[in-house]
Amino acid sequence: MKALIIGAGIGGLSAAAALKQQGIECEIFEAVKEIKPVGAALSIWSNGVKCMNHLGMGSIMDELGGPMHHMAYHDGFTGSVMTQFSLAPLVDAVGERPCPVSRADLQSQMVDWWGRETIQFGKRIEKVDQTDTGVTAYFTDGTHAVGDFMIAADGTHSAVRADVIGYQTERRYAGYVNWNGLVEIDESIAPAEQWTTFVGEGKRVSIMPIAGGRFYFFFDVPLPKGLAEDRSTVVADLTRYFAGWADPVQKLIAAIDPDTTNRIEIHDIEPFDTLVKGNIALLGDAAHSTTPDIGQGGCSALEDAVVLGQCFREQFWSEKTKTLSGVIEALKHYEEARRFRVKDLVLKARKRCDVTHGKDMQETQAWYDELRRETGENIIAGLRSTIVGGPLA
Ligand code: FAD
Repeated sequence: MKALIIGAGIGGLSAAAALKQQGIECEIFEAVKEIKPVGAALSIWSNGVKCMNHLGMGSIMDELGGPMHHMAYHDGFTGSVMTQFSLAPLVDAVGERPCPVSRADLQSQMVDWWGRETIQFGKRIEKVDQTDTGVTAYFTDGTHAVGDFMIAADGTHSAVRADVIGYQTERRYAGYVNWNGLVEIDESIAPAEQWTTFVGEGKRVSIMPIAGGRFYFFFDVPLPKGLAEDRSTVVADLTRYFAGWADPVQKLIAAIDPDTTNRIEIHDIEPFDTLVKGNIALLGDAAHSTTPDIGQGGCSALEDAVVLGQCFREQFWSEKTKTLSGVIEALKHYEEARRFRVKDLVLKARKRCDVTHGKDMQETQAWYDELRRETGENIIAGLRSTIVGGPLA
C-alpha cells in the first residue's frame, strides 16, 4: 500500500508521519527545491502540540516551544494594561502547553525527522489521474508517480483541490495586512514569558516568545488589497500606521530588520464540505484555508493528520480490509470526521478577524471595553473550547 503525499509543509509531513504509524509506505513530493516558509513563526496551540506528541514529533515542540506563560492586552495608544493573566489554568484544563515556534525551525526539523534525503524536492504536481486501481501524479518536469492513494497537502493554492471538489475556489481577502518577523527579546517592549498584544483603531501589535531568546512579532492593519508597499518601505509604513502609539510599539518598529520582515495580505477560502474524492484526500490548507486570527491553520493540519491515521487504523485492523476499497472507506471516514471541525475553525477565525480588525468599529470598541473588564476567565474559556474540539481532547 503506497500513498503519494503532495507537499512537504506541516500538513504533508504530519500526514506522512500518521500513515507511517499504520505501516503505509509514503512518497513525499514537494514543488520547491528549498522550502521558504511564508511567516516567521506560528503558535502551535495545545491541540496541535498533542498531535505532534501523538505523531512522535513531541521532542521538536520541547526544543522549539517558547515560554509563553502569561497573556496581556494593552491599550495601543497609552500602553496601559487592559487585562493580564496567567495561562496556567488553560494548561491545567487541557493538559498541554501552547508552543509558539519559529516556522523555519519547525519546518526544517520536521523535514529532518522524516528524512530530508527521501523527500522529492522540485516536483510540482500539475495534473492527477484517478483510476479504479490507483492514482497517478503528473509533475511539471514531465515525470510522474503512481500510488494507491494520494494525500494532497499542497497548501492554499492547491493544484489538486478543484479535481476533488469539482470547482475552482476563490481566495477571499480578509481586509487586513500582516507584517511579521523575529527580534531579540527586549523586556522594555514586553515581558519575556508573555503573549502581549497592543490594540486600537482595529489594528494590533502582538509579541510572543519563541525559543532562542527571540520574540515573534506581528503588526495587523486594516488596508485595501494591492498597495505598493514591500520590505523596502516597511519601517516608514509601520511608523505611519502606528504614529502616536505607545513607546514599546515604537521600540519594536525601530528594532525590526526589514530584510526578514514579511508583509502578507491575509486571505481565507469559503469552507466546503468535500475533502475526499475516492482515493484522493485534501489535507491542511488545501482542505481549509483560514485567516490566522485564532492561530489554528497549522494546528488543524496536524489534527487532520492524526484523524487520517486513526481512520486507517480502524479500517485496517484486519488484513482483509487492507485493500483499495479499505483505503476508500478510511478516507470517507476521514472526511466525515473532519469536515465540521475544519469549517467551524475557519468561520470562528473569520469572526474573530472581523472583530479584531474593525469591520464594524462599534463591535470592536465593545470588545476593547470587554478586555478592560476581562479577568482571563472568558478568554481562557474560548481558547479551551477551541482546543478540546480537537481529536485528542
Ligand atoms: P503549506 O504550509 O502551505 O505547505 C504546502 C506545501 O506544498 C508547500 O511546501 C508548497 O511548496 C507545496 N506545494 C504547493 N503547491 C504544490 C504543488 N503543485 N505540487 C507539490 N507541492 C506543492 N497556523 C497555526 O496553527 N498557528 C499560527 O499561529 C499561525 N499563524 C499564521 C500566521 C500567518 C501570517 C499565516 C499566513 C498563517 C498562519 N498559520 C498559523 C497557518 C499555517 O501557516 C498554515 O495553516 C499551515 O502552514 C498549513 O500547512 P500546509 O502544509 O497545509 O500548507
